[in-house]
Amino acid sequence: MRRFEYFEPATLGEAVTLLARYSGRAQPLAGGTDLLVELKEQLRRADCVINLKKITGIGGLSFHAREGLRIGALVTAREIEVSPTLIEHYPSLVQAARELGSIQVRNRATIVGNVCRASPSADTLPPLIADGAQVVIHGGGGDRLVALEDFFTGPGKTVLKPEELVTEIRVPAPAPRTGKVYLKHGRRKAMELATVGVAVSLSASEIRIVLGAVAPTPIRARRAEELLRGKTLNDVLIEKAAEAAAGESAPISNVRASAGYRRDMVRVLTRRALQQALGAIK
Ligand SMILES: Cc1cc2nc3c(=O)[nH]c(=O)nc-3n(C[C@H](O)[C@H](O)[C@H](O)COP(=O)(O)OP(=O)(O)OC[C@H]3O[C@@H](n4cnc5c(N)ncnc54)[C@H](O)[C@@H]3O)c2cc1C
Repeated sequence: MRRFEYFEPATLGEAVTLLARYSGRAQPLAGGTDLLVELKEQLRRADCVINLKKITGIGGLSFHAREGLRIGALVTAREIEVSPTLIEHYPSLVQAARELGSIQVRNRATIVGNVCRASPSADTLPPLIADGAQVVIHGGGGDRLVALEDFFTGPGKTVLKPEELVTEIRVPAPAPRTGKVYLKHGRRKAMELATVGVAVSLSASEIRIVLGAVAPTPIRARRAEELLRGKTLNDVLIEKAAEAAAGESAPISNVRASAGYRRDMVRVLTRRALQQALGAIK
């Protein structure tokens, strides 16, 4: 591993000053489950690593019935997985957290780290986008709020500037009678990155279908959503929407699966996710 400077700032202000000083040559460190692997394997370069763990005030997980959910930058996948509140109100996010790596990984991996790594196959992105999440970005000029679906610009790329950090993810309170589902398809049942991931959030007022691992960033299947909006869902409509979603995906072929197989799995998983979300409406 190449040598790097290492800092443990105690405040956000100190962290942002360090990021600005190293302008683009510093990497924030949360759980390190992506960053340390990438540094060790020289897939990423850093002259400076800034550990966020000692910063106070960015670790909280809270839920309010009107304002919704706040996931601080240090909240781990495991905290999401075991939270009774989240199991009740954000079941698709819980499902994604449950399927992320192993329990050892989940005990360290943060949700914000999963988001900032911006892998097209990252598990928490489809359910968070389907739930209408926003990211709070902190930089020298204060805070700005960006819709998560606009946060990604390509594989491993986001709208974050070099001197900015994500401090929180905000997720609106669920509308009454919402069905939420995340389905992940991989070659194995555990410790596997998604070949395809589909999240659906379905209520009387809104429908969101989000596809993971089938485009350079997670994408909304907007034509599929449009086919269903305002309609009473039945098997024929659901099948049409699933086909539309497959048509909207733009997968690549790689070691995990061919593009054709992935597209077909988008159709199958979208159909299943819609049926399950419909059944899950309470
Ligand atoms: C064995 C193994 C299995 C895995 N399986 C899965 C899986 O099934 N599904 C899946 O989605 N992922 C998987 N991962 C990937 C990984 O665990 C996740 O992406 C994790 O959520 C990243 O969080 P972290 O806290 O470890 O981030 P880190 O590694 O600390 O950081 C990840 C990236 O985000 C940046 N970053 C972190 N926090 C911030 C912040 N607050 N502001 C700005 N930038 C920030 C870092 O600089 C870095 O570029 C796996 C990893 C391993 C090692």
